[in-house]
Amino acid sequence: MKIAFLTLGCKVNSYETEKMKQQFEERGHEIAAFQEKADVYVVNTCTVTNIADRKSRKMLRRARNRNPEAVIVAAGCYVDSGGKQDPADGSVDIFLSNKEKLQLVELVEQAWADKQERGAEAVRCGGNMERSITEAARQEEHTRSYLKVQNGCNQYCSYCIIPFVRGPLESRRPEEVLREAASLAQQGYQEVVVTGIHLSSYGVDLEQATDRITADRFLELEGRPLLQLLSGLNQIEGLARIRLGSLEPRIITPEFARALSRISKICPHFHLSLQSGSDRVLQRMNRHYTAEEYLEKVELLRRYFDHPAVTTDIIVGFPQETEEEFQETCDFVKKAGFAKIHVFKYSRRRGTAADRMEGQLSQQAKGERSDRLLKLGAELEQHYQSWFAGRTEQVLWEEITEIGDKKYLMGYNERYVRIGMETEGNPEDISLCNTIGNVRIVGQIVPGVLSGDPIERQETINKKK
Ligand code: SF4
Repeated sequence: MKIAFLTLGCKVNSYETEKMKQQFEERGHEIAAFQEKADVYVVNTCTVTNIADRKSRKMLRRARNRNPEAVIVAAGCYVDSGGKQDPADGSVDIFLSNKEKLQLVELVEQAWADKQERGAEAVRCGGNMERSITEAARQEEHTRSYLKVQNGCNQYCSYCIIPFVRGPLESRRPEEVLREAASLAQQGYQEVVVTGIHLSSYGVDLEQATDRITADRFLELEGRPLLQLLSGLNQIEGLARIRLGSLEPRIITPEFARALSRISKICPHFHLSLQSGSDRVLQRMNRHYTAEEYLEKVELLRRYFDHPAVTTDIIVGFPQETEEEFQETCDFVKKAGFAKIHVFKYSRRRGTAADRMEGQLSQQAKGERSDRLLKLGAELEQHYQSWFAGRTEQVLWEEITEIGDKKYLMGYNERYVRIGMETEGNPEDISLCNTIGNVRIVGQIVPGVLSGDPIERQETINKKK
């Protein structure tokens, strides 16, 4: 069978898609691009906003139009949030919850066999077996791999449906994670990105029944289970870098930051979701920190790491957000000096507290605020990156990319800044992909992408040898 996948949403979804792909390949099936005609289409859906729901439905219909005879699978959060009942999804053959994703191969093979037997009659089904994710994932890019260590969230931010659809906190046992990481290193991956739905809660459920875990349990444990896991990962031979997925700001304490800074392979790149720089908005969002407390966390990271890249997510146009509150966010991001900001226009999500709030803002107001914050974010990114001028940076080379009429060997440094080195595309340079080399930063190729001095190429090649 030819199977095509499309992933919407978060890094955890990307990880799980790779798992599913790997299972199909192991059974001898062929993976196709989503644009191609395939026998099976799997849309790994997202439900974080109403727009995400709409996109999930649109992609399922698109798959059905591409091949009316295909088996169409809707998997993941959209299904868990009730998408199964939506009459608009008449095109779907298999609905698969998050917990059933690893059952997909058997269900699809069964559905495919049924289709052959009974023509175009849809085979509507869904598994119910729970399986934990235990095997190594193979990612599309072969330099960096996601490593999912945790599922579920109990924070209940007022705009988010995830705690209702991803189920209770569930951490993978450390020995299982370490086994997977070792296998990834053996396959040649140099970097892992440790991810989870609420990564800071990693391990809080390993010693305690899930229904007794409070939202602040990770604070009581001072992030120790996560630190222990990271220390274990640090020992794995062949793994050069450990990058962290999104962290809850409150986990950063002096002890946590100090312990983290002693783990040598940790990349000094920290994604702490801010969401708003206004305390009133943060309260309405049910985020459990103030802007001032958040800033203290950023300063702590700067005390223990040299020029760390602190990146963040911000939602603009949250219900009742006044111009003054939005301005507080703009002032705050300047003060925090972020390396990069991901800006999201607030999008209503049925079933959440924020959706029921009065004072929903117009699309125009949200768009206008988003533009202003994006502009500010670009200035901050430029300022953050100016620090690298003239410095020698270690780059994990990933690919050859064309920008304008030039070719570049492209990769990321530890602080997740994209860096390119000019190349003719010769085999020697191509062979550098998935190696780490040194370059001196000499300028900028385009905004957000720095250029490395080609004089250092020889040094890079030597390092590979
Ligand atoms: S921390 Fe908040 S935004 Fe993140 S998954 Fe949990 S509820 Fe959603």
